[in-house]
Amino acid sequence: MMLPDPFYLTAAATLLGLAVGSFLNVVIHRLPKMMEHAWLAECAQLRGEEPPPGEKLGLASPRSRCPHCGHGIGALDNVPILSYLFLRGRCRSCHARISPRYPIVEALSGLLSGYAIWRFGASWAGLGALFFIWSIIALTFIDFDTQLLPDSLTLPLLWGGLLLNLGGTFTDIRSAVIGAAAGYLSLWSVYWAFKLVTGKEGMGYGDFKMLAAIGAWLGWQMLPLTILASSLVGAVVGIALIVFAKHGRQIPIPFGPYLAAAAVIALFWGKPLTRDYLGLF
Ligand SMILES: [Zn+2]
Repeated sequence: MMLPDPFYLTAAATLLGLAVGSFLNVVIHRLPKMMEHAWLAECAQLRGEEPPPGEKLGLASPRSRCPHCGHGIGALDNVPILSYLFLRGRCRSCHARISPRYPIVEALSGLLSGYAIWRFGASWAGLGALFFIWSIIALTFIDFDTQLLPDSLTLPLLWGGLLLNLGGTFTDIRSAVIGAAAGYLSLWSVYWAFKLVTGKEGMGYGDFKMLAAIGAWLGWQMLPLTILASSLVGAVVGIALIVFAKHGRQIPIPFGPYLAAAAVIALFWGKPLTRDYLGLF
């Protein structure tokens, strides 16, 4: 059997990543709205009222529309990155600006997917890395927008990591199980210590679940690096925001995006970084 050339495989994964990135934009935009709608319906039900009216929103339907004029986005205007460039970042119908976030998410997904397959090849590790990256991208931007890390993403990611490591794909199952528990408990302890000392809540339970998922995927050995890297990136960005953007110190800065950045670093370069630079394990 002829194995496909790594170049073609990487190119195919990049294209797949671009297409999935386009879907991730829908997830990032709609999942928090769907959750809010479900909460409101639940509250209404508890009060014995009719659920609030509103369009039924799903991930697959209705079709994407321009938020300004409601113009339906056709297949031709939905090609990742190219449509944005061709339309110069404006709606075809009303010429309202389209956020550059859409092509950025697509490009990020494409590049990381291509790199994952180039690194891990067409293997369980490669497939797993794609699933990990796509989930992490969705979580990052949802947290950025809403300060929420939905259970419907963090928990399947956690189970997925444990199942994949039954075969020792990224780490042995023992390290994965300990990683999941240690990831959750480490941030949980920081949360309570911070709350007892300052009386404030520094992060949310979603962050604990996300670090638990990272521990399940990469093993407990990667947790010190993940926490160190996310705190470093978080501190630098946080100080920059306060100094340059006059971002008030009281406004919460989501921690999920920094955890996500650290998780991707740990996925690709965790082993050499932990061994050679931190001198651990
Ligand atoms: Zn429009």
